[in-house]
Amino acid sequence: MGLISNRLNRIAPSPTVSITDMALNMKAAGRKVIGLAAGEPDFDTPQHIKDAAIAAMQAGKTKYTQVDGIPELKAAVCRKFARENNMECTPDMISVGTGGKQILFNALMASLNPEDEVIIPTPYWVSFAGIVELCEAKPIFVHGSGANPMKISADDLEAAITPNSKWLILNSPSNPGGVGYNSDDILAFAEVMRRNPHLHLISDDIYEHLVYDDFRFTTMATVAPDLQDRILTVNGVSKSYFMTGWRIGYGSGPVPLIKAMAKVQSQSTSSPNSIAQYAAIAALDGPLDFINENRAAFARRRQIVCDALNDIDGIDCPRPDGAFYVYPSIAGLIGRKRPDGQVIKTDSDFVSYLLEAGEVAVVPGVAFGLSPYFRISYAAADDVLLDALRRIAKVTASLS
Ligand code: GLU
Repeated sequence: MGLISNRLNRIAPSPTVSITDMALNMKAAGRKVIGLAAGEPDFDTPQHIKDAAIAAMQAGKTKYTQVDGIPELKAAVCRKFARENNMECTPDMISVGTGGKQILFNALMASLNPEDEVIIPTPYWVSFAGIVELCEAKPIFVHGSGANPMKISADDLEAAITPNSKWLILNSPSNPGGVGYNSDDILAFAEVMRRNPHLHLISDDIYEHLVYDDFRFTTMATVAPDLQDRILTVNGVSKSYFMTGWRIGYGSGPVPLIKAMAKVQSQSTSSPNSIAQYAAIAALDGPLDFINENRAAFARRRQIVCDALNDIDGIDCPRPDGAFYVYPSIAGLIGRKRPDGQVIKTDSDFVSYLLEAGEVAVVPGVAFGLSPYFRISYAAADDVLLDALRRIAKVTASLS
């Protein structure tokens, strides 16, 4: 009998986190690696948010807090949902955790039994599947059957539902595909949910503010309020407010689920960081103008990255609706040979070669359940991106 549990042995470490670590270690060893693996904005947290944290520290707000968030932050989250999403919430419907990831973990841990199935559209963020597996339930991956393989339809969803389906996890705009589901798409999913009353929804809205062109963000609890007691709406301050390291995420859902999530949190991490909670209030109640300014930078980078990748023979890069990732297909590179004679058979082969020969760290599509693709996080400075794109073009050109 080994030391490590079967439960843990069944899952892989988060590839987004482990590739980022690998790139950081290579950098520390003096290699000039460009890390485009982590989904993390390069912008610094705005000053008014840092000031709120400093003020909280100086006021002695440095103790444990209520296990799933201070009342002031829960009230700010309710204001945010009312103001930005036209969603009516009360503080007992709100849970605050150590990042959106912990909210997801708590919800799945609180609700899943081994026979339960969780429907996850591909390509999916790595931890959706990992957390479901840690909870010993079954991820059911759904591929888009239409023109866009990264976007599922209501029919695709309906075909995946069984009597054991407990949750659908919908992330729009999505990581890694940048796919946005508009209100018509979401209303069609709502119809499917009405026909299947045992199905619940986790709506992961973390990229809400990072949308481009004419895509308009919306969420199920806004357009189908009749389903609100079957929806957990998850969000956080990490991506929109450039606060990844502060670790504050939150969710709004049915009271019995929120209470069960607090129980999970009480037996694991306890309250989220007290100082970061006060900073999150300043973020949610504060201005959004810096998000709009930085959204323009993301939109410009998206253009630069898509154009440069589409100029490379063998790479096809769809233009995402939101978030800060591109997810290009490398179907055209599969079967090509490296100068040392090794054949690129998979997206992992390509990504390893890119790291070795070009010193650019990206994540292979296999991690997200749709191959052969890879993910670039373009939340990096323009000159860093241009350098990375030159390296990708050079490495790709070396394949024959
Ligand atoms: N969500 C980000 C990503 O996909 C951060 C790393 C992680 O937690 O996966 O890169």
